[in-house]
Amino acid sequence: MKKIQMVDLKGQYEKIKSAVDSSIINVIESTAFINGPEVHGFQKDLEDYLDVKNVIPCANGTDALQIAMMGLGLEQGDEVITVDFTFAATVEVIALLKLTPVLIDVEKDTFNMDLDALKKAITPKTKAIVPVHLFGQCADMEAILKIAKKHNLSVIEDTAQAIGASYTFSDGTVKKAGTMGTVGTTSFFPSKNLGCYGDGGAIFTNDDNLAHTIRGIVNHGMYRRYYHDVVGVNSRLDSVQAAILRIKLPLLDTYCEARRNAARFYNKAFKSIDSIVTPTTQVCRSICENCNCHVFHQYTLKITNGQRDALHKYLIDNSIPNAIYYPVALHRQKAYADERYNEEDFEVTNKLIKTVISLPMHTEFDEEQLTFITNRILDFFNK
Ligand SMILES: *Cc1c(COP(=O)(O)O)cnc(C)c1O
Repeated sequence: MKKIQMVDLKGQYEKIKSAVDSSIINVIESTAFINGPEVHGFQKDLEDYLDVKNVIPCANGTDALQIAMMGLGLEQGDEVITVDFTFAATVEVIALLKLTPVLIDVEKDTFNMDLDALKKAITPKTKAIVPVHLFGQCADMEAILKIAKKHNLSVIEDTAQAIGASYTFSDGTVKKAGTMGTVGTTSFFPSKNLGCYGDGGAIFTNDDNLAHTIRGIVNHGMYRRYYHDVVGVNSRLDSVQAAILRIKLPLLDTYCEARRNAARFYNKAFKSIDSIVTPTTQVCRSICENCNCHVFHQYTLKITNGQRDALHKYLIDNSIPNAIYYPVALHRQKAYADERYNEEDFEVTNKLIKTVISLPMHTEFDEEQLTFITNRILDFFNK
């Protein structure tokens, strides 16, 4: 059996090796390393794929969030609401910009922003909401956009884990993750669903004025060469990464489908085990056959019999990689703890950090590997 990996980047590369290698060599030979034609080309390709008016490439997903917030003109003391159960980058940039992070709880089924908690957290100082489309599925954007509109708030979608996912509104409109709010951000970190071979990120918006502002911010605040109108940053996607992403973008939907296939295999295998809760998808409440509502950046189980840590150890002993995303709630992290927070407002997150476990998830499984993983887990629960 092929060695089981949490993410099989090598196996994926081998299938696209000749295209990737020649695109990298082309960039090197062109010496257009920065802002070359590949960057512009990728920007256009991604605008088409997402059906969004503006894509602004940048250096990574954390920068993308920071730059989006700078572009919106958020100021010191403005409150920005985001979730307690996510990767720290989201709250980190809020704090870095001297905005006030307001962490709220998530829903127990989807792991995404809880709407009641959101409504409760809004104050006259609230300026923006940052829903994170966690593990590959969109937060309830229809409801979030409605709340945002009522209170005149910007919505920044953190799409680092959900590029390629779609969301269906109640009127049947389907939109891609990251294109529904005021602005969306993503990461091309190698292990993300659309990963490059280094760091990369992008910002999306249908607002042309905001796009113009952001294009200056990523480039030292310049709108005209050597005239610095605002304080900006230096955040670029390099041409080698863009060239690789141009090869991988046309494969993204196939990659997402491979992930969904693995998720279906897992779901089916674990059906009979009462103490395993398999992932719920928001729109379909099951893994839908024909839509992209979940792109499974992670395949995350909830273990309800108190055996999560024992399972984690058992899987390691059986050479099955796995991970706890996330082991600590952000409101309990040293950097983000605050006396404003009450433990009873984080009931779901406090429980999730003790019950979740993510299994290997990538595009390159064969059935033998999936059978091995699921059989070992079934053995654990049936022993
Ligand atoms: C990966 C990730 C980021 C940060 O992306 P980088 O490219 O690593 O900076 C931000 N938010 C979430 C939810 C992520 O998973």
